[in-house]
Amino acid sequence: MPELPEVETVRRGLARVVTGWSITGVVVANPKVLRGQLPETLRERLLGRRIQQIDRRGKYLLVRLSPALCSFEPLSLCIHLKMRGQMMVEPEDSEPGKYHCVTIVVRGEDPAKAACLRFYDAWTWGELRALYESELASSVPALAQMGPEPLTDDWTGAVLGQTLAKRRTAIKPTLLDQKVVAGVGNIYADEALYRSRIHPQRVAGSLTPDEVNRLADAVKTILTEAVEGGGTTSENFFDVAGDAGRYEPQVYERGGLPCRHCAAVLTRIRLAGRSAVFCESCQPLTR
Ligand SMILES: [Zn+2]
Repeated sequence: MPELPEVETVRRGLARVVTGWSITGVVVANPKVLRGQLPETLRERLLGRRIQQIDRRGKYLLVRLSPALCSFEPLSLCIHLKMRGQMMVEPEDSEPGKYHCVTIVVRGEDPAKAACLRFYDAWTWGELRALYESELASSVPALAQMGPEPLTDDWTGAVLGQTLAKRRTAIKPTLLDQKVVAGVGNIYADEALYRSRIHPQRVAGSLTPDEVNRLADAVKTILTEAVEGGGTTSENFFDVAGDAGRYEPQVYERGGLPCRHCAAVLTRIRLAGRSAVFCESCQPLTR
């Protein structure tokens, strides 16, 4: 699943191309990703709007749209890629590819500049809806409950420490909880625990202040490096131009291979229904 760095990569790619452009067409090929919103509603809400800004909150993309004459209430195109969703910028005259769900035609001030924003999703678990500000909380409760953004100065080891203090769950699944910290998923939780030398099964509330600081620093460093690398290399992730990510994880999906630090064989376990890969020698279970 695309995590913070992959979604941020998509956000930057979209923002570079279509900020300020207007929506002139909407085609829904697979309404499943509208999660109950009618294709007519999506069309009606989007047509004629200008893309003002593109934000990211956790793993959600929020395309902020210009107000309409009939309503000044802020409207956003709210997108979640889930497992296999992809947002691509393609030439206006191109034919949609396999797993096409939605096409949004956008045009720049210079009418010669136009493109198709295409949402593809092989599993159709993704989400794409046009929602007014007043609908966002009820339609997307995960957004309203979203925890702090890890790449802000406000999010520190002290903040993470307070969040973890009373938690009796293992640290790895705790980091995956979007209410704890926004945008971290299986890849970057494995990577951050490895970098901070913390065993994934440690009880979250048992981490010492030093460990929590190391962990918060590792989350920030790794997410920053992965954003700079345009996301993790994966057959399921491509940026808006179709290019793969260049970030190479150290432990994620490397179970059975040698640790790049100490050469011990990396261990893969199931933890709270997800895989976890770690080095028993670099990340000993201390308590
Ligand atoms: Zn090791």
